[in-house]
Amino acid sequence: MKHLFFLLGALALVSACAAQQVRESPGAPPPAVSDRDDVMRIHFIDIGQGLGVLLEFPCAAMLIDTGGEQDDAFDSDKALVSYLDGFFARRKDLNRTLALVALTHPHIDHTRGVAAVISHFAVQNAIDNGMTQGSGGAGQGELQQFARDHAETTHYRAVHLEDIADPHGLTDAIIDPIRCPNIDPQIHALWGQVAGDPGWPGMRFGKTPFQNANNHSVVLRVDFGKSSALFTGDLEEPAIRDLLKRSAGTDVLNVDVYQVGHHGSINGTLPELVAAMSPEIAVFSMGPASRQLTWSAWKFGHPRKEIVDMLEAGMTRRRPEIDVPVGLAGEKFRPQRIQKALYGTAWDGSVVVEATADGRMKVVTAKAQ
Ligand SMILES: [Zn+2]
Repeated sequence: MKHLFFLLGALALVSACAAQQVRESPGAPPPAVSDRDDVMRIHFIDIGQGLGVLLEFPCAAMLIDTGGEQDDAFDSDKALVSYLDGFFARRKDLNRTLALVALTHPHIDHTRGVAAVISHFAVQNAIDNGMTQGSGGAGQGELQQFARDHAETTHYRAVHLEDIADPHGLTDAIIDPIRCPNIDPQIHALWGQVAGDPGWPGMRFGKTPFQNANNHSVVLRVDFGKSSALFTGDLEEPAIRDLLKRSAGTDVLNVDVYQVGHHGSINGTLPELVAAMSPEIAVFSMGPASRQLTWSAWKFGHPRKEIVDMLEAGMTRRRPEIDVPVGLAGEKFRPQRIQKALYGTAWDGSVVVEATADGRMKVVTAKAQ
């Protein structure tokens, strides 16, 4: 009998492991964070290939993009809702309310979770770039419709580049609805929908850069005292060059934390941008190279070695060393040792940057190194 039980137990273990390989358990609970209530926490949530960032302040929370990857191996909606459930269980004072949901652009890896978010949590303000075309256009349209249907409780604004006259960015009560009593976070939009084709050269996949929604990404800078972060969505090279021109002579791009643009794609970061930012910490939001599926980080080769090298060269802060696959091209990776403070949701699970008002940073990751 003993042998039979052993055999059954072993079989159960084998099948449990097999199930885990097929479907990762999404929505790992928020990594252990300190009990400080005077900090900003930037949660880069592991939503697979895509972007979903929760910003936690002493008196409120906001979300930038809603993920993510949806395939036989990963369910980003589950991961996102589960993470937010865990977060709001810790921050009961926030009453499951997001002061702001910001969508960078209408691609599905950024807007997939809109329906899940608005059905599970209260949303007081919403911004996007106003577009409803593209693989994630329906998601942006859904958020816009939700705001129209709930105009009393949810305020909406489309961010257009032509409204951003000040190089330090655009802000108002919808873009920055958060007013914390001691340290008041500042939220500014630096980029948005571009009205007319600036004549950006280069065609890709039969589209001009102007026809690519990535170049209309809402770019946000968030300040919390002396700590700051930049979120460029999937902004690509021609738009980044224009953003750099607009910002020349200011320190508006000089930030501590960088959401590495376009998941570490070859066209999402420039050396001039790294120089302008001189970031202390940079975080890639991407799926793992091990999920070899049609619509994955593996397929796109994210993050690219050139971008990893560029950031390693431009940063000084270090992290516990980690050996990770970096992309040489789509579907082609090689191992590399990371030494600088570069983190990735595919490498580290969800990543939380805790920033104090006097500019000190700490990083907590879901997977211990
Ligand atoms: Zn994307």
